[in-house]
Amino acid sequence: MKNFKTGMVIEVKTSCTFQSNKCKNKNCNFKFSKLISFCPNPNCMSNDFKVMKDSRFGINAKSLLKDYKNGVFEKLCLFHIFDEDLNKKKRTIKFIVNGFDISFNKHETDKITLNKRLEYFENQNFLSSKSDNCNLLPNSYDFYLLKPKQVCSFEVIINYGNLHIKNIISELKFNNSLRVPINLIEKLSWNDFISIKSYDKNSETISVEDFSSNFNFKKKKFNKERGEIKLVV
Ligand SMILES: [Zn+2]
Repeated sequence: MKNFKTGMVIEVKTSCTFQSNKCKNKNCNFKFSKLISFCPNPNCMSNDFKVMKDSRFGINAKSLLKDYKNGVFEKLCLFHIFDEDLNKKKRTIKFIVNGFDISFNKHETDKITLNKRLEYFENQNFLSSKSDNCNLLPNSYDFYLLKPKQVCSFEVIINYGNLHIKNIISELKFNNSLRVPINLIEKLSWNDFISIKSYDKNSETISVEDFSSNFNFKKKKFNKERGEIKLVV
């Protein structure tokens, strides 16, 4: 997307972690809607299934870096959509839509933050020889290291039992500074995490600013495919 006023490039990406369930029966592997509580394959009907949540923001690292070097890359706008409440009795789903900005504007971003953001995409670009695409998981370790700034939050209630009923959309309040939970990092580093100034005992979180300045991207093996990344919603 191009900002016609400034001529700058804005990359908009969406990740929806409301996905199909996957049957765990090895002879079946059926994927089916989350609205159903058992595998609908007539030969299976298993209750044992996996809830899938691994949708990612697919960002082209190569073109992002190219636009940045040409001085025309403004920011990433990321939208994470997830279900917060699935009420099968009322037949409603409550979705949350959270919007985040990751700016690459030199005038509004400090040098350290900007370098960290560039480091992530340079690593991704260097590590992946097969594609230019990098797969950023919402609310993951890497996501918070990029120090995203939340810009909006909406709640959408959909009545899936009767689609003639209008969706209810409301704006939600959100924290200006995101909080990063302790369980995103390895246990070995928990003491470091707890000693950080913004650590809050009750929520076991620190501010995204402190997280981004105190932790680093994990070293990945050359040409390694997707690593194991923990998701916390
Ligand atoms: Zn099945």
